[in-house]
Amino acid sequence: MPITATEASRLSRRTGLAEDQFCSKDESGIRRLLNNQQTKACVFLATTSDLPTAPGICSVYDSRPLGCRTYPVILDEKDLAILDELCPHTSEFDEPSEDDGHRLLNLESKLQQ
Ligand code: SF4
Repeated sequence: MPITATEASRLSRRTGLAEDQFCSKDESGIRRLLNNQQTKACVFLATTSDLPTAPGICSVYDSRPLGCRTYPVILDEKDLAILDELCPHTSEFDEPSEDDGHRLLNLESKLQQ
């Protein structure tokens, strides 16, 4: 999950963790949340299993990044908001709106700051 510098600072304050304990920059300079080596899930997902269907709860739910709040809405290659077909729960969500697309484009512009 990509996160902004502001979101990384907020998560660091909230958890007491150094940023490099929960995110790293990819080759484009975008910060991304790290996965736990055992569970293969986000480091903040409280779960004990590496099964994709395993129950889990976000341990930073109130401070979760915008990308987490909007998922499974993502941008396609034309920058249109769509539901991520990899998410097994898309049928529980409404079709994305134009506003969703604008929100994600705005987020995208902040990711490399
Ligand atoms: S919602 Fe929480 S557990 Fe899920 S990716 Fe975001 S920060 Fe991680």
